[in-house]
Amino acid sequence: MKASVLFAALGLVFLAGAAKKSEREVRVLIGDLNKPTMIEGKNLKLRSKWKTLEFSDKIQLEPREGKIFAQDKDLGSSVRIESRGPISVSGHPYHGGLAIEKVEGHFLLINSLDLDDYLAGVVKNEMPVNWPLDALKAQTVLARTYALGKLEEPRTEQYDLLATVEDQVYTGMDAEDEASWKAIKETEGEVLYYRGEPASVYYHSCCGGWTESVEYVWGKTPKSYLQAQKCDACQDCPYYFWRYPEKGALSPGDLANRLGYSGEAVGEVTVTELSPGQRVMKLQLKFQSGYKTELSGNDFRVRLGREAIRSALFKVEKTPEGFIVFGSGSGHGVGLCQWGAKGMAEAGKSYQEILEHYFPGTEIKKIY
Ligand SMILES: [Zn+2]
Repeated sequence: MKASVLFAALGLVFLAGAAKKSEREVRVLIGDLNKPTMIEGKNLKLRSKWKTLEFSDKIQLEPREGKIFAQDKDLGSSVRIESRGPISVSGHPYHGGLAIEKVEGHFLLINSLDLDDYLAGVVKNEMPVNWPLDALKAQTVLARTYALGKLEEPRTEQYDLLATVEDQVYTGMDAEDEASWKAIKETEGEVLYYRGEPASVYYHSCCGGWTESVEYVWGKTPKSYLQAQKCDACQDCPYYFWRYPEKGALSPGDLANRLGYSGEAVGEVTVTELSPGQRVMKLQLKFQSGYKTELSGNDFRVRLGREAIRSALFKVEKTPEGFIVFGSGSGHGVGLCQWGAKGMAEAGKSYQEILEHYFPGTEIKKIY
């Protein structure tokens, strides 16, 4: 009796050790096969609708006449690639398998892989891995939560996620690092939940002192855990304070021109509406001609350039030389402030405390 219990326990331990995978597969669009491309792997198998080709270590694929060719063998328009190990595309290795699917005349290159392996290709791209472990762990839980959300609502029928900033930056095994694997393993299966549902999660570089309520940035439904929070931990961020222009000032004519009112000269800029996170929602422009107009804070940012006006947390000052925009933070301000997470972790806070601060009322659930 006891022996069988022990065996069962050992079996579980063994299984837990072996089954380190999340058992959830994500499909990531990693590119477009639009030129001859070298694919490398161990015992490569290329399966098309009609045939399977095998290659010991590499094969060049060529898109031609609307089909994929491997050594002049026609594989049609849809190919699955497997290997006994990572598969490299033009020298960049990926876990899992690859699929090539023809969509609207393009051959999409899609990497299907275990969720945790995917995270290993993301974390380093989203946060410097020399940051404290608890900041990386908070980032990892959010990246996992985000990816699971995309499994529920895939980007398209063929893939769940883009490999770019539009979702999360994913660069396969090139991004793998000991620190990110540590963060992934130590938060294994952990996902941010709110009232029984995976939370909608967002993160940004540096809030500048206040995070922002989600409805004020994208007009989405307000969520109690995505409301403006005071953040005292991101002062080390290089954009905690910025000014535009970096030197000097914008002349009244210059500012009008840059904002799309050529021939005018700005007389006054008045902020007329602020969000709960102190971001500029609306401002009034009064021109020297007497003409007045309103502009959203976002339009003001976009017209002067998002690299110039790094956040909507700004004020416009009129000086004898012209106008200067003084601002704070970088990014949209919703959800986790990454520099704030770093600051909190350096002050000894755990990743649970960091997530609770930026997403109050949520809980971390271990789902695998
Ligand atoms: Zn912050």
